[in-house]
Amino acid sequence: MLTLPVVVDDTHRQHEPAFELNAGQRVAPVHERPARIDAILAGLRTIGIDERRAVQHGDEVLDGVHDPGLVAYLRDAYPAWRAAGGPEVMIADTFRSPRWSGGGRRPTSPLGSLGWFCTDTATPLVAGSYLAARAAVDVACTAVDLVLAGSSGAYGVTRPPGHHAGPDYFGGFCLLNHAAVAAHRFRAEGRVAIIDVDVHHGNGTQDIFWTDPEVLYVSVHTDPDHQYPYFSGYPEELGAGSAHGTTRNLPLAPGSGDDPVLHAVEVACELADAFEPVGVVVSFGCDALDADPLGQLSVSAAGFTGIGQLLGALRRPTVLLQEGGYALDRLGAVVAETLTAFEAAQAS
Ligand SMILES: [Zn+2]
Repeated sequence: MLTLPVVVDDTHRQHEPAFELNAGQRVAPVHERPARIDAILAGLRTIGIDERRAVQHGDEVLDGVHDPGLVAYLRDAYPAWRAAGGPEVMIADTFRSPRWSGGGRRPTSPLGSLGWFCTDTATPLVAGSYLAARAAVDVACTAVDLVLAGSSGAYGVTRPPGHHAGPDYFGGFCLLNHAAVAAHRFRAEGRVAIIDVDVHHGNGTQDIFWTDPEVLYVSVHTDPDHQYPYFSGYPEELGAGSAHGTTRNLPLAPGSGDDPVLHAVEVACELADAFEPVGVVVSFGCDALDADPLGQLSVSAAGFTGIGQLLGALRRPTVLLQEGGYALDRLGAVVAETLTAFEAAQAS
């Protein structure tokens, strides 16, 4: 039996695009689909969990994390797209580039504005996408509330993932950045550390806290030269101004297994501990698993148990939020074993 509360919300089911475009291929069913959460909860229920329903929070929890223009866009875009004759699945065909000298104007047309806010073709929108992403933010906020009320840890079963969503853009399966919202909530109490163990670099989280010296963002991921998000996640990215040094990227070569990954997570935990945070937010992706169809690292189930032990050994108030993880037949057991190891280490 896992004693840390597990926060859930079924609204995520409303985000299920019929297909996505990934590396130029039409992918159906999409990788990031409701069955992921079903697999996780099935694994957790076999060991027994303290399940809590997410509590709704007002939109003010997004303040300081996302530009209001992005939030309004995500909320209102789909009806406008359909009214303009757009097909059922929203995918942009043109994306803004920072190298365009005249790229300062946001288009007003549905297709143009989609390419303004979205960064890739793997993040389609459908009618219920915003409600699903907004519910994941409520899951994250509820998990933080439980920890602030005295629980040593909480796990939020968040979907869609969030760490690729930035201040004013979305992409990489992510619409709203629930880990960043959670960190921002802790920040009212003091310094916060975000440890991101998803196989992909969390470019959105990095950008949101790029100039904030009170939030440490440290990420272990595949070398972005080889893997999404390609343009972000290199060691020389350290934050700006007074926040220089509060972003730390620990990229690993494709194919890296338990030893190098666990060493990097150990370094990440040491950095987090030295920051003396009042709270830790873990972007808990499981796509570094050896069986994952998208990730390029090769961590075994035992390796994930080791990650759980390292995170628990910090013995700090911790919120773990689900990011990626796409090996549906292994996901439930891996989450259950990692959280069990986390909890045992935290209590020891
Ligand atoms: Zn990922």
